[in-house]
Amino acid sequence: MNPKSWQKSKEFINLISDNITVLMESSEFGVIQSQLMSLIQSLDKRYGVTINCVIDVIDWEKERILPLLNTGISTEESGDVFRTWNDALPQKYVVNGDIHVVPQDYCPNCWSDWGFKWKKRTCPECGIKLGEECKILLDSDVCPHCKDGIISMNNPVCDKCRFKIDPNCVVWG
Ligand SMILES: [Zn+2]
Ligand SMILES: [Zn+2]
Repeated sequence: MNPKSWQKSKEFINLISDNITVLMESSEFGVIQSQLMSLIQSLDKRYGVTINCVIDVIDWEKERILPLLNTGISTEESGDVFRTWNDALPQKYVVNGDIHVVPQDYCPNCWSDWGFKWKKRTCPECGIKLGEECKILLDSDVCPHCKDGIISMNNPVCDKCRFKIDPNCVVWG
């Protein structure tokens, strides 16, 4: 997504996500939760059950789908219920000269799963290559590997995870 679309989407997704939380803590949802518990008690111990609320952005022109939020409840082996969250951190890229933003384990070009980009440098779906037509845009000093340490053009080794940036794979913004 372009940075503007990403920003707008995140604003609304945060609002929706807050309301999903309100809904999940309401008495109406309590009914569903107790039915879920009944289901789990009626199943063999090896099984678990989840209820997920997924928000996808769909690009009709390029026929691609990007999940921006996945939250719900899931049962543990002990039978307890816990809340699940999957709102991956965003990463900026430059692909053929344009800036794109996607959750970090996705391809900025085709929106397919593409984790461990530093090791697997080719998107398994569309074939773009990190370090060639695709580069990671670093416009802050946050380490793109652990999202915790500090990294810069002059200091390309993360002070927390010791990850070393390959200068061919990044564009400093
Ligand atoms: Zn791709
Ligand atoms: Zn790091």
